[in-house]
Amino acid sequence: MLSPASSRLLLILNAVFAVVSSPLYLPQALDLSVGLPPDLPDANLTAHAVKQLRCGTDISLDDILLAEEQFNALQMELVQDEEDEGIEINVHWTIISNDGTLSGGNLPDSQIADQIEELNANCDGAFVYTLVSTSRVVNADWFSNAAPGTTQQTAMKQAHRKGGHRDLNVYSVGFMSGAGQGLLGYATFPFHYRSRPMDDGVVLQFATVPGGAMTHYNLGRTLTHEVGHWLGLYHTFQGGCTERNPNSGGDYVSDTPAEASGASGCPTNRMTCSRPSGDPSVDPIHNFMDYSYDECMDQFTPGQMARASAMFAVYRPKE
Ligand SMILES: [Zn+2]
Repeated sequence: MLSPASSRLLLILNAVFAVVSSPLYLPQALDLSVGLPPDLPDANLTAHAVKQLRCGTDISLDDILLAEEQFNALQMELVQDEEDEGIEINVHWTIISNDGTLSGGNLPDSQIADQIEELNANCDGAFVYTLVSTSRVVNADWFSNAAPGTTQQTAMKQAHRKGGHRDLNVYSVGFMSGAGQGLLGYATFPFHYRSRPMDDGVVLQFATVPGGAMTHYNLGRTLTHEVGHWLGLYHTFQGGCTERNPNSGGDYVSDTPAEASGASGCPTNRMTCSRPSGDPSVDPIHNFMDYSYDECMDQFTPGQMARASAMFAVYRPKE
């Protein structure tokens, strides 16, 4: 039997898979055993406790295998690499608020600036983000109900996505009810841009920005995690312990140790997978692509940044 939380998660993932599967014209057989985030963390948003889900970005194993096959082929054809360091990305931020108040999601410019600064610090110069536009929109329906696959998120993105294929769009919302209730964020992958350009970007719970009200998730690392997906990174626990099997999914990054599931809190020395003899590595709980608390996350690996740069060159090429 599934717990109520698991049942709700399956509903969310069904919605995500329906969206994610479509551009690659995959069979509709969905593997719900892949990528289910266990150990979902708790946090209080307001006076009433809301079960928080670290991330709503998910993708089936079939989609991953097809996407990686395509990525490999396109990389072989690549004629122009990205610059070695400091890929510049313009950011368009659309602030969706419930009612124009701060508690209703109307973030001040100072917190947006702090969040962009945090994102830049987390990417350590490999990607350089510049905020180029901020839009403020009062829409209680989008604020509460924008979520993967909902009509509200489609309408929101259709109305407000800005810039081109190299630009990052961030929409901050509340995830207050419906399929997305309790989410901290979700993102699209770069290999989905061509088929769904208007869907491209990150949707973020507004109280996760630096100084926000989301206890344990208010240092701004949710946006970093979601931008990781937008750059082409999977969760460190993608594929579980079978990461090193090329047909298992995995996270396609060689310097992030495999882990069985997403971590919650900050479980130092967690080791959920057996290692080869002499391999001292523990679970990558400090990696931005895990599910740990914000205060626990502080790194992308060189392998992740190399993959992200290659993804950018392939799917978000210079004109
Ligand atoms: Zn995620």
